Amino acid sequence: MTVHSEENNEQSIPKKCDNTDTDYSDLYPGRRQAPVRNWFDKIFFMEKYDEIQRTKCEFNVYNCIQNSPLVKLMMAALKSSGCEIDLSRHISCEVCDKSVTGGYDPQLNQIIICQNAAQSRVQSSLVHEMVHMFDYCRNHLDLTNLDHLACTEIRAANMCHCSFLGACSQGIASPIHIKEVHKECVANKAIKSILAVQNVSEEEAKESVSRVFNRCYNDLEPIGRRIRRNSEDMKKAYLEAPLYGYID
Ligand SMILES: [Zn+2]
Repeated sequence: MTVHSEENNEQSIPKKCDNTDTDYSDLYPGRRQAPVRNWFDKIFFMEKYDEIQRTKCEFNVYNCIQNSPLVKLMMAALKSSGCEIDLSRHISCEVCDKSVTGGYDPQLNQIIICQNAAQSRVQSSLVHEMVHMFDYCRNHLDLTNLDHLACTEIRAANMCHCSFLGACSQGIASPIHIKEVHKECVANKAIKSILAVQNVSEEEAKESVSRVFNRCYNDLEPIGRRIRRNSEDMKKAYLEAPLYGYID
């Protein structure tokens, strides 16, 4: 599930999509097959480069887990829901297709952070995929169900990607219709995410998003608020978390 846009390219890997003939392992080549090693990679130290990238990515993930209020809140929410994250088991830095920055693999209950693409967007990729993990743990997310997929993508875009401030600074929102612009941003991101992983028409994706939009757009669990860029919202959300039973 996700987006091919410039600012967030997270994917969730469908557990098993009966209606898709796309090979999504192309997006995450390290997932279900041994890496293909060739003489070119060895001679030009590409393997070493991948290792360095992975170490940097793991450091960034660790840093977010220690310091990002939003990531800490999601960790607490998952723990309180009985799905505690074990860093070494549930988050994996990997080389992915350049079109994506992350993914969620429900078969292994694992978040993938794309070491070659996420880089400065590790925090938003982590939170996005943690929303899918939370929905899988708490809301019985079934990624083969188009409406479930639409709902979790709406929630992820709503809580961590589409920012009110961003819309203002791009000049596409005025105080009068800012709410509509935000909703439109969320819907568009969700549609792109669906199209990235499900072999459905744009029409089907749009219909599914509009079927569940209001319910899922208003469901801000477990963050409790829409995060505005350059605001105290992340900190506030983290400080409020214990009130809702999310304790890290
Ligand atoms: Zn997603």
